[in-house]
Amino acid sequence: MRYLFLILAVLLSFGFVAIVKPKKTLGLQLLLAFSGAFLLALTIFDLLPEAYNASDPRSMGIFIMIGILLQIFLEFFSKGAEHGHVHWDDQKKVFPWLLFISLCIHSFMEGLPLTSTNPILYGILIHKIPIALILSMFLLNSNLKTSSAVVFILIFSLMTPFGSFLANHMEFITTYKAPITAIVIGILLHISSVILFESSQGHTFNLRKLIVIFLGIVMAYFI
Ligand SMILES: [Zn+2]
Ligand SMILES: [Zn+2]
Repeated sequence: MRYLFLILAVLLSFGFVAIVKPKKTLGLQLLLAFSGAFLLALTIFDLLPEAYNASDPRSMGIFIMIGILLQIFLEFFSKGAEHGHVHWDDQKKVFPWLLFISLCIHSFMEGLPLTSTNPILYGILIHKIPIALILSMFLLNSNLKTSSAVVFILIFSLMTPFGSFLANHMEFITTYKAPITAIVIGILLHISSVILFESSQGHTFNLRKLIVIFLGIVMAYFI
């Protein structure tokens, strides 16, 4: 069931962009800021204590740092698509393989700590929506064939559920659950703080953004 929600969140976002053809609006920026705050807070409230309890805290710290480095490395290729903006020459007709592969690795990793009980699922789910919207806008406005765009989004939507499925069925991942979760914590800490950082353009005071960020944190606490 949780897999279905994750896939639907991405596919419906794509469908919405294809049909409504929305512009980059303030609403999207607010949604992005909310998702960043919500994901960051869930990671800190939920995943972090779990990881530090599960194993030796010093080695967990190292794995978290590895996750942060891994995400920085992935962003050399994705150009930031997993946190809400795409820098890719949209006049090109070739399939953006590097963007695609690094996004898929990111999404796959995100699926690893998901189980039906932990609240981080909602954080990932909410995070997917603005990212899928922005990605779909890019794909549909580029010179790529619509069929390539559909394949891109379809495979992208399957990666997180695939990660979650493997994590729950593969012995290797269950054995190394604690360090793997710590790596994912690093990834999530990095992207969610970049989302928050980039959502305050010029660091001008923006009351609406501050309210949605605060709301994201409070909701994460009570979920
Ligand atoms: Zn960025
Ligand atoms: Zn992500």
